[in-house]
Amino acid sequence: MTQDVIDAIRPYQDELVAIRRDIHAHPETRFEEVRTAALVADKLREWGIEVHTGLGKTGVVGTLRGTKTVPSGNSQRSVGLRADMDALFIEEQTGLPYASQVAGKMHACGHDGHTTMLLGAARYLSEHRDFAGTVHFIFQPAEEGGHGAREMIKDGLFERFPCDAVYGMHAIPGFDAGAFAITSGAMMAASDSFTARFRGTGGHGSAPDKGTDPSMAMAHFILGTQGIVGRNVSGLDSAVISVGHVAGGAWGSPNIIPAEMVVRGTVRSYTPEVRDLLERRLVELAHGIGLAQGVEGVCEYVRGYPATVNHPAQTTLAVAAATEVAGVARVDAGMTPVMGSEDFAYMLEARPGAYIFLGNGKGPYVHTPLYNFNDEVIPAGVSWWVAVTRRELEQGQE
Ligand SMILES: [Zn+2]
Ligand SMILES: [Zn+2]
Repeated sequence: MTQDVIDAIRPYQDELVAIRRDIHAHPETRFEEVRTAALVADKLREWGIEVHTGLGKTGVVGTLRGTKTVPSGNSQRSVGLRADMDALFIEEQTGLPYASQVAGKMHACGHDGHTTMLLGAARYLSEHRDFAGTVHFIFQPAEEGGHGAREMIKDGLFERFPCDAVYGMHAIPGFDAGAFAITSGAMMAASDSFTARFRGTGGHGSAPDKGTDPSMAMAHFILGTQGIVGRNVSGLDSAVISVGHVAGGAWGSPNIIPAEMVVRGTVRSYTPEVRDLLERRLVELAHGIGLAQGVEGVCEYVRGYPATVNHPAQTTLAVAAATEVAGVARVDAGMTPVMGSEDFAYMLEARPGAYIFLGNGKGPYVHTPLYNFNDEVIPAGVSWWVAVTRRELEQGQE
């Protein structure tokens, strides 16, 4: 089947590459994907696909129904295929002829490629409607820190477009172009942040005994965060706490004890239990150290994306589709999870599904000014989407 798909999409590979480079040249960041969404909607309509716009502000959903009927007694299945459309606030340095034309914005996470590959699958499936059931092509805004998936869900994504299962894909440099990697269960981490504040009286640096000093509390707190990871989290679980910002006092006043010091950081975990533990212990730590040092200690914990957790049955299906496309030797079905995060997590909380990595070959990593999506993997990505769709919908015919 897959060779059929690759043969069938070969004639429109040039058009897909042109679309990818056009999107790359015109990056749009969170909830401002107006041009990209219009391009997606135009292409879907051109290929005879029903289009719905404005979900989660700039999200687009294309709906395509197959022409095959299911045997009586069986129900039509539906599947959601999701791509993200947004760019990052990065100044591009690739020097490519189709480099970003927008200062300070860049498709440095390959979402230009994701959008293109899903468009390719939409085109192929619209030309090969001999399947039973419904496909929803979900183009979401604001994956990069904007909770775009959650916003589409809030706007009724899965009520208006019921999906028995949802799938997502991300191109990742650093392993073979066109190879796949996935794992069942937690594949990416929950990403949260904290802000701890320590308030005392401050005072003259020569006379610390005349006041209270938040700097001691801050120092103990920073060391204590690693005690949470090392002493509270089970050795069989994983967690990361990193400090990314400290502030207090004035550069020109090394002889003044500041009245307030602030520490900010990021927190990563894979399970709700560990996530709850980290939140609770950071709050307790700031408060307890404040008491011990005679200052006020308060930690505010802000939850970002949840962990991306693949469901077992859909992971098995995703692996089978990837094996069909790339061959068994080029599919890692038990990859080591990564500590990055991804807002497709919200869709996996709402529906059964799976998220897979597509190898992008050698080259600079995502979120760097030199990254560029590898157009050579477009046929593999399109073929995976088609294989997933067919396998998912065939389940309704058994
Ligand atoms: Zn990214
Ligand atoms: Zn990304």
